[in-house]
Amino acid sequence: MKNRPSNTIERLGVDIRGIVQGVGFRPFVFRLAQEMGLSGWVRNSSEGVRIEVEGEAERLGKFLLRLQKEKPLHADFRSLEHRPLKTKGEHRFEIRLSIAGRKTAPVLPDLATCPECLQEIFDPQNRRHRYPFTNCTQCGPRFSIVEALPYDRANTTMKKFSMCASCRSEYENPQDRRFHAQPNACPDCGPYLELWDAEGKKLVSHNAALTQSAEALRCGKILAVKGIGGFHLMVDAGNDAAVTQLRKRKLRKEKPFALMFPSLHSLQGCAEVSELEAALLTSSEAPIVLLRKKEFSRFSSGIAPGNPYLGAMLPYAPLHHLLLAELDFPVVATSGNLSEEPICIDEKEALIRLKDLADLFLTHQRPIARHVDDSIVRVVEGREMILRRARGYAPFSFPLENEAEAILAVGGHMKNTVALSVGEEVVLSQHIGDLETPQAFAGFQETMARFQDFYDAKPKRFVCDLHPDYASTRYAAEHGLPLLRVQHHHAHVVSCMAEHDLHGQVLGVAWDGTGFGSDGTIWGGEFLLSTRRAFERAAHFLTFLLPGGEKAVREPRRAALGLLYETWGEGVFAKQDLALREAFHLEEWNLLREMLLKNLHCPRVSSAGRLFDGVASLLGIRHKADFEGQAAMKLEFAAERANHRETYPFTILGDAPLIVDWRPMISAILQDRQGEKSVDHLARKFHNTLVEMILQIAERVGEKKVVLSGGCFQNKLLTELSIRRLQEKGFQLYRHRRIPPNDGGISFGQIAIAVEKQKPCV
Ligand code: ZN
Ligand code: ZN
Ligand code: FE
Repeated sequence: MKNRPSNTIERLGVDIRGIVQGVGFRPFVFRLAQEMGLSGWVRNSSEGVRIEVEGEAERLGKFLLRLQKEKPLHADFRSLEHRPLKTKGEHRFEIRLSIAGRKTAPVLPDLATCPECLQEIFDPQNRRHRYPFTNCTQCGPRFSIVEALPYDRANTTMKKFSMCASCRSEYENPQDRRFHAQPNACPDCGPYLELWDAEGKKLVSHNAALTQSAEALRCGKILAVKGIGGFHLMVDAGNDAAVTQLRKRKLRKEKPFALMFPSLHSLQGCAEVSELEAALLTSSEAPIVLLRKKEFSRFSSGIAPGNPYLGAMLPYAPLHHLLLAELDFPVVATSGNLSEEPICIDEKEALIRLKDLADLFLTHQRPIARHVDDSIVRVVEGREMILRRARGYAPFSFPLENEAEAILAVGGHMKNTVALSVGEEVVLSQHIGDLETPQAFAGFQETMARFQDFYDAKPKRFVCDLHPDYASTRYAAEHGLPLLRVQHHHAHVVSCMAEHDLHGQVLGVAWDGTGFGSDGTIWGGEFLLSTRRAFERAAHFLTFLLPGGEKAVREPRRAALGLLYETWGEGVFAKQDLALREAFHLEEWNLLREMLLKNLHCPRVSSAGRLFDGVASLLGIRHKADFEGQAAMKLEFAAERANHRETYPFTILGDAPLIVDWRPMISAILQDRQGEKSVDHLARKFHNTLVEMILQIAERVGEKKVVLSGGCFQNKLLTELSIRRLQEKGFQLYRHRRIPPNDGGISFGQIAIAVEKQKPCV
């Protein structure tokens, strides 16, 4: 527009891609154009928003600048392109209906209730007073209600409610906060609450359903509550008997329950909340944040037994705000499912699946389009680390440098997620879960089908794990499309590289429970010299026999015995004074002895996760575990209580790959056990040693860029100590922030590798 008189009338076509739907973007454009006296129109497109705008050249330039500068809070531009068009001489600016095209517009995640809506539901003068489905363009459900793109009411589960005159006038008024707020509703036209008994008989509805639900919780009842992305099971967090009952019914012995607090203030009474943690809790993502418990808190000891941390969240839907305000005490809010099954989203299904779990059902008629669990975040070295990406964070889209063909990555086996490349971006699904049960696998298949449908993607190839027996691998193999099998730990490393936009070579430290190695053995304590395309196994932990294989996940004592057998051979069975013996009955001990001596059902592993478990057992911290990683977590908690820099001896053997021999450490730990030092002290010494192992391997390999990935790096102490120690020595450290370090990040790594492999080699 240079060199032309500034008062020439021109017309521009503007295409904006990014997060611009469902955030009040079109009304913002409308108001801006009106204010600036420009004509034309704006509408949603499948790729974002398209604007045609006409007026004096100079004003158009300012319009483009103000679009970027003044855009609504949740809007995020990925690209803004504009080109000159022929002028049309219109006199006004309007908002047009959407048209369908290619479906790549990013969908916004579900957003927690905004301050304005919150004020309305507690204002007796407001027509939405105590209305649990209040929302606006700045808040409310999105991903959990959208069935197809573009994001318009007719494509959401709200389509069955027709708006009353008042709601419609808000919806159609560009000056209103609810202009094109797709889930807009009120007590006259929208969904309402119903309280059902365990047989599905309606007891009461509307406000009475809310007050009676609160009363039931006060009386220690277990309440199933239909929320944003599925059902929660709720009980009074201060009621021991109710919490115990919930554990019994849910078949969940010790795994911590998440709590929902009425307010940040009440939460601060029970846990240490840093500024960043408070910001996370009150953000529109409103995840569960792992917080350090305060010593004396009112709630039941059954919430998170033996765990110094607490998973806490704040109300994120009007229904929660109303219910928690009524109660004024924290409740357990755990996902509505049997252990490890997918979360329940439909009330008819809930009645069947949660029949033996809940006493009452607080439900409503707004359907949930897909299950979206609560997300989990932990603060590590002063920055967040997302451990589970679901509500508020999903779907997550990540820009690619070039357009890639449609590829579907099916992820791993535990904490499964899937990823899809569409056009110039990769979309990562919400957390799906462990694919252990038929229900979980059905959930995986459904999520996958809906995900492809949603983005209108027909994958040309699949990416899966190298493990032949993963349900996800078998699913991918059945499709007959070109299939890329990616080594598990390589996927971990590349997921972190892609998160940090790293290219070239890195030393990837990938530590987790298990992953299928390229040599057919079980890996898990890996140092991979990696690019996005390939890797070389630079080093790994000395392998050991794991008696009973997967059984050891729930029995750290088996890992401990495996470590000792590798250290002393048969001699371990001759040691009469061995403390570990007391962890077994005589028959068990003899059976495992037979298994080890004959090498039956004893896979050889290099697993860092099992090393953690084994050491936890040798220190007497935990011989059996209620869930994977429990013993390792307890070891971390013990180590946090000590503070020193002592390390255990270890050696590095071999050449290519190098082998980290931990046997000297194991012998020294057993010696230390005879001495005066506390278990906490020894646990810290073990952590320090692992950090020293990383440092020595990094120095031997001579690669300055070091990437930390795999489930073991959910361990805050290990991650923080590694970063500090290696940075001291001049290494550049990268760890996960937005992509989970655990297997929830596998699909993202898989797809990054597949996209890279499509590029020609340079
Ligand atoms: Zn709002
Ligand atoms: Zn209405
Ligand atoms: Fe893994």
